[in-house]
Amino acid sequence: MSDPKSIITKWVNFCFVCGKPREHMHHVLFGNKHKLADEDHLIMPLCQYHHEDSKNGVHHNKGMLAISQALAQACWQRQYLAEKLASGEDLGHQSVEDWLQESADAFKDRYGEYYM
Ligand SMILES: [Zn+2]
Ligand SMILES: [Zn+2]
Repeated sequence: MSDPKSIITKWVNFCFVCGKPREHMHHVLFGNKHKLADEDHLIMPLCQYHHEDSKNGVHHNKGMLAISQALAQACWQRQYLAEKLASGEDLGHQSVEDWLQESADAFKDRYGEYYM
């Protein structure tokens, strides 16, 4: 079986937080966003501790949650811009700030909110 694909890290066999062998793949945006996030490969390899520990796991720790969601948005925007660049379409004359804003807005269109 091939490794799962993630747009957050290419090191999918190791916990993103501590580097131990991956035990779970965490859907960084979950609930009703789970399906979209799946399509977009917004998944993060975690050990069981950093996934589900009652204090420090991403499902129980607000800081971990906020940072992982902001990271998901940043990586999604990076992917959006990379695909746009690779598409060869006429990119017009937008400034870098405009590109960043466009990619942020595209994220919000898809997921309904900003995480950073
Ligand atoms: Zn870990
Ligand atoms: Zn999870």
